[in-house]
Amino acid sequence: MSAFKVTDLGYRYANSSVPALQDVNINLDAGQCLGLIGPNGAGKSTLLSILSGLLIPTSGTLHFGQNEKTTLSKFVQENVALVPQEYAFYPQLSVLQNLEYFVSLCGLTNTKGKIKVQSVMQQCQLQQVSTQKAKLLSGGYKRRLNLAIALLKDPQILYLDEPTVGVDPISRSAILTLLKSLKNQGKTIVYTSHLLTEVQDICDQVVMLTRGKANYLSLNTQQKFITITFATALSENWTKQFHALPIKVECKEAKVTAYIETSEELLTMLALIGNSQLPILNIHYDQTSLTQYYLNHMEENDSTEY
Ligand code: ADP
Ligand code: MG
Repeated sequence: MSAFKVTDLGYRYANSSVPALQDVNINLDAGQCLGLIGPNGAGKSTLLSILSGLLIPTSGTLHFGQNEKTTLSKFVQENVALVPQEYAFYPQLSVLQNLEYFVSLCGLTNTKGKIKVQSVMQQCQLQQVSTQKAKLLSGGYKRRLNLAIALLKDPQILYLDEPTVGVDPISRSAILTLLKSLKNQGKTIVYTSHLLTEVQDICDQVVMLTRGKANYLSLNTQQKFITITFATALSENWTKQFHALPIKVECKEAKVTAYIETSEELLTMLALIGNSQLPILNIHYDQTSLTQYYLNHMEENDSTEY
């Protein structure tokens, strides 16, 4: 069953000449985890704001689940929680006071609210800091409190905007373990991060945004690639010849990267290199990781802008 589906989604801020999102298509099944990656300014937070009903898309559509009759705001109010990039708690209140305040907004009775606060504190391992003022918490505990607040309403769909930024390794591991257990409980998760190894670890689907455009990454880490670095930049003619191969090839200055699916493709690539007689500096044959794909892609798109 689909958790949500976005079709040809676009968004342009009123004061901006370029769109923050363009033609984004995502279909996420319930109980799955989607990783949203991309550099600063790529549109990740904008997309989460749209998925949370905080921004209305300028083009395209967004549907949750099967029930098209449910209005978006009602569905979001009842089933969706966003853990924002910014801290969303009262710094002067203690951890417990914050949770008690936010649970009171969830419409639970006093007793049910207290039980919920205790269970969320346990889930996020916040018991030992429950009486500390939120503003005095370490970065890791602040992130856990941000997450705990979102869990109070027991959302079916949970969005997390860079939940591990500025977080020590112990808190990061606690947050990731918690996300895995939420996923095991059947929650749908959308998770933005710069840390690709994390995304690779917990996500079922990965979308990379660059300047508002989506690239759909394969989590199949078995894909092989070969990168040849020549002694001099490739001529236009050679770039054309590499691009003409029936293989996914990226060319940049003196570097050619080909993504290899079969041994025939590797041989085709090697034959062209052999025939070219171009002087070779280095050949690197390896399996792609998400990090490698990301870096190759960023290089292709001129990462200097970021
Ligand atoms: P990310 O979360 O990936 O860093 P954002 O969604 O915050 O990216 O931003 C996407 C683009 O939209 C950027 O170019 C950013 O400058 C622009 N943007 C974000 N918020 C606003 C806003 N409130 N008004 C105008 N432009 C904005
Ligand atoms: Mg952001």
